[in-house]
Formats: sequence, C-alpha cells, structure tokens
Amino acid sequence: MAGLAAAYALARRGRPFLLLEASDRWGGVVRSLREDGFLFEAGPDALLTTKPDAIALVRELGLESRVVPTNTELRTVYVVKGGRLYPMPEGMVLGVPSRWGPVFRSGLFSLGGKLRMALEPLVPRRAGGGDESIAAFVRRRLGREAWGRLGDALLGGIHAGDTERLSIQATFPRLVEMEAKHGSLVRGFRRGPKGSAESSAFVSLRDGLTEMVEALVTRLPRHALRTSAPVDALAPAADGWSVRVGAETIEARAVVLAVPAPQAIPLLRACAPAVADELAAIRFVSTAIVLLGYARGDVAHALDGYGLLVPRTGGQHTTAASFFSTKFPGRAPDGFASLRVFLGGDHDPGFAEGDDASLLDTALREMTPLLGLRGQPVYARVCRWPRARPQMEVGHGERVARVDAMLGRLPGLFLTGAGLRATGLSDTIADGTATGEAAAGYVS
Ligand SMILES: Cc1cc2nc3c(=O)[nH]c(=O)nc-3n(C[C@H](O)[C@H](O)[C@H](O)COP(=O)(O)OP(=O)(O)OC[C@H]3O[C@@H](n4cnc5c(N)ncnc54)[C@H](O)[C@@H]3O)c2cc1C
Repeated sequence: MAGLAAAYALARRGRPFLLLEASDRWGGVVRSLREDGFLFEAGPDALLTTKPDAIALVRELGLESRVVPTNTELRTVYVVKGGRLYPMPEGMVLGVPSRWGPVFRSGLFSLGGKLRMALEPLVPRRAGGGDESIAAFVRRRLGREAWGRLGDALLGGIHAGDTERLSIQATFPRLVEMEAKHGSLVRGFRRGPKGSAESSAFVSLRDGLTEMVEALVTRLPRHALRTSAPVDALAPAADGWSVRVGAETIEARAVVLAVPAPQAIPLLRACAPAVADELAAIRFVSTAIVLLGYARGDVAHALDGYGLLVPRTGGQHTTAASFFSTKFPGRAPDGFASLRVFLGGDHDPGFAEGDDASLLDTALREMTPLLGLRGQPVYARVCRWPRARPQMEVGHGERVARVDAMLGRLPGLFLTGAGLRATGLSDTIADGTATGEAAAGYVS
C-alpha cells in the first residue's frame, strides 16, 4: 500500500515513474481470499474510520458505495479470564471507560480494579514528557489491573507486540494527545465526538480490502507497473540512482523505497549504511492467522460480537480471534460462520513459524472450549506473516527523526513503508502519499 500510494501521488502530479514489485501480485500484506463460498482476509481486515487517509482514498477511487461497516448491532468484544469469556464493558474505547455503569457491572475486573480506573480523571498529567511504553502509560493512568486484564491484550494485540516495549507515542499518539489536552483519557473520550449507535469504527469493502488495491492499480499507467521485479541493489549514480533488477539496471532521478525495514536493509547496506543500521534496530515479529469456516450448528457460542481477546496470563498461544462473519456482512455462506484466529507475536517468538498442522491444531484446541466448536471445520487455512509486524518501541520517534536527517543528506532517496513513520493501513497510505509527493517535488 505504501508503494501504491506513492505511485498514485506521482501519477496525479504527472511524473513518470516505474513501480517495481517483487511478488507476482499487488497489495503486499493486503490479500482477500474468496474460497469455498467464504470471503476471508489473509492479512488486514479493516480500515479505521477515525484515521482519514484510507477512507479518503476509498472515496477518491469511487468505491464509496462498496464500503461495508462492521456490524453495529453485535459489537461486543469478549475477554478471556480464567477460561471463561467476559464481555468487555460497553463504552470502552481502546480500553478506556467512557461510561462507569457497564464497568461496575462487569465481572472482568475486581472491585479494587474498578475503583482504581474510576480515579483516572484525578491522575495528574505526566510531568517531563518524553516517550513511555504502552504498559507504563496504561498502568499510570488506569491501574495495573486495567492493563493486565484488558489493555495489554487489546493495545499490544493490535501490534502483536509487548506493551512493556512498544512506544505509546508511536503506536497510540491519540491517547498521549488526549492526556495532554484533557488531563484525563476518560474526560477526553467523554468530550470527544460521540460515535452514534449506527456508526462503525472499522470498515471494509464488499469484496474485501483487495478491492481497494485493484481500484488503485487501474488508476496507474499500465506501462509503469511491473510485478515479479525484485530490486536487488541500489547505488548512487551520476544524475540520481541506479536500480538493479536481475540483469537489468534502471537509471532514475529519484527512488522511493517503499518496503518494510527488513527488506530495505540489504538494499541500503552499501549506499546508506547508517540508515540501514537504524532500520536494523526496528524489530519485526512473526504472526499467523488461522482461517476457519464452520457449519453454524457446529459452533455453540452465539458469536454475537467482533471476537475475543486472550490476555497472555492464561498461557495460551492464541492472542485473539475474530468472529469474522459477524463482524462484516457477506463473509460466509448462509448457514455457516467464519473465524480468524491469531497466533504468535512478540510474546511467542518462533511459534508462528511452526508447521501448518500444528498451528491449526493449536487454534482448534484453544478455541474449542471457548466457543463450543464441534466436529471439523469445513474450511481451514493457515496464513503466515513472517517478520511482518513492526515493533515501534520506546524511542521510535527519535529513531525516525535520525533516519529523516540522514535521508536529507542523500538527495533523491525517499523511504516509506511499514514500521517507519506509519503503522496500519491508513497511516501507511498517508505516509506513502506524502513520500510520493516529496519525490514528485524533488524531480520537478
Ligand atoms: C497480519 C496483519 C494484519 C493487519 N491488520 C491490519 C488491519 O486490520 N488494519 C490496518 O489498518 N492495518 C493492519 N495491518 C497493518 C497494515 O497492513 C500494514 O501497516 C500495511 O499494509 C503495510 O504496507 P506496506 O506497503 O508498508 O508493506 P507491505 O504490505 O509488506 O508491502 C511491501 C511490498 O514490497 C514488496 N517488496 C519487498 N522487497 C522488495 C524488493 N526488493 N523489490 C521490490 N518489491 C519488494 C513486497 O513484495 C510487498 O508487496 C496488518 C498487518 C498484518 C501483517
């Protein structure tokens, strides 16, 4: 998406370019699968509506009528505690309560934990500023239990990461801004724009997120698009950069390197070693998603929500599961249900690299008692994402500032993509677009 967004920005400015993609398909980790009557997502499944850039692109591509919101009737998220499922109290946003009634009625937290959360509006702003981990931020504002029973699984799970290491500033800047502006997250969410009952925080497209990729590709000049064209080397040249693809060398005034850090490092090692060193410090972790299709009668649970979160205290490999056919319409044939089960991440290094059979077996073993699964799924597929989830750790912002300063001394070289300035599709599109515009400005 970063590369496509950059290319689209260049196309809009009328700048000639060549888009080189290593694999035989566009979209990178965005991959919708239509199989056996199910519509699954192998990677990302939703665009966040609170971040404007992805939605703006969808509109610009003429896909507005194709947008499907999440099911607003059944929006519960369950949390596992002691082997049982507890609904997350209504009105919680990113683990922050905006209403007290549901929190005090919930069995998820102890009375002490609830009272501590209720003190959040009285907790002073952090003195001194500077970056902090997600865990430290949530414990400081809402207490240890709010972090351990919910915040860790929810906020860490979004990044498949360890909340003790992830930067709150890089991953959830909105929460930091809210504390600075309102002095309290609870007050901030209460004062913020109210999500109406009909509005949804996440959307997708009728045929899945690949629809956005396909629409974007059709807006780019066909002669500028090359798949199965892995870039092997980059080097400064007399009037710009030379780009090697197999036996071919392409001369370019400017290069936008729109690949995640692990793939950028070998290309930068010779021509920008200091940038490569900084990127090498951004860890990427591996995850897997097990896609399951069941006859509806073979799942005892009502599947009346978006899914479930598994706090790591339970010793399970599953980090979360989404009730995919409840979350979005048209994802499973009538009479069937679909699930996405998430495994691996920073707490479980190496686990997602196991073989398909053992990942499937783990997903079924851990989901069966929680969801009352019976018999065998009618559809099962394991999707692996080796080193695809960037870990923006405490101090990430300063690292990016150092990278940007170094790039300023390498005219014509631009960098965007997962794990640098952006996390998530909307920010990736925003950063890819801004980087494409900067490259267009440079060659002008
Ligand atoms: C499993 C998963 C679930 C996610 N869920 C969500 C979600 O629900 N919502 C959300 O907003 N975000 C989600 N994200 C994050 C979001 O998908 C990413 O931030 C974003 O898609 C990254 O895009 P990218 O272009 O930077 O990287 P990628 O999608 O990895 O694309 C990089 C591209 O570069 C190509 N490439 C690599 N090396 C070379 C080379 N040498 N030469 C040429 N081409 C090369 C690759 O083949 C690939 O196509 C998820 C991510 C993952 C992995």
